[in-house]
Amino acid sequence: MKIIDTIYLKKTYRLGRIEVNALNGVTTSADEGEFVAIMGPSGSGKSTFLNLVGMLDIPSSGEIYLNGTDTIKMDERTRTEYRLKNIGFVFQFFNLFMELTAVENVMFPMMLSGHPFHRERAEELLEIVGLNKRSNHLPSELSGGEQQRVAIARALSNKPKLLLTDEPTANLDTKITREIMELFRTLNHDQHQTIIMVTHNPELGEMADRIIHFRDGKVEG
Ligand code: ADP
Repeated sequence: MKIIDTIYLKKTYRLGRIEVNALNGVTTSADEGEFVAIMGPSGSGKSTFLNLVGMLDIPSSGEIYLNGTDTIKMDERTRTEYRLKNIGFVFQFFNLFMELTAVENVMFPMMLSGHPFHRERAEELLEIVGLNKRSNHLPSELSGGEQQRVAIARALSNKPKLLLTDEPTANLDTKITREIMELFRTLNHDQHQTIIMVTHNPELGEMADRIIHFRDGKVEG
């Protein structure tokens, strides 16, 4: 089963009178359980693609199917619910709630999606990402690598079908980058977590099962 299927996806941004064709007809797909890297030069449309697949934005034209479901035809409320239940995001800047502890950050999406507070499940997720001893710490008391682990645990809290990540290690040093990448590999291998990762770093791209190359808003090759 294809977990992602996009058909001739286009996205045009308008800046005053100028039009930017961020995506110019992207037809591509990913299978369930794959770890795919999206690579390409800056400005080639990688983040735009990830945001569209992650249902954070809508395309100007084209189709997106997630697990066979047409996401374009959904109304706003259905989109939000679908996104919360099926998609987890990990960003470059961690984006944690600074006033909440690690475990509270992980529980937050569970609350949004109407699940009861599952502290136990959140503690379990922190253990999976190797952070169980830090669960009651605030983000300010954690290192960058530890904060990213919390963000990954949070992204996994609703058992998403898709984990999307945009330059997840861009703010981390080499050693921590390797650890975070190993964590992604383990999640993919042991939990069959589908992962789509945007990166401009070829070494990180090589760690994925497959690389999709973007150039000028199109898939190369
Ligand atoms: P990448 O992630 O490969 O660096 P992006 O998807 O961020 O590329 O951007 C693709 C193109 O779209 C770039 O030319 C960028 O400047 C433009 N772009 C991205 N987001 C916006 C936006 N919100 N408004 C206007 N232009 C944008």
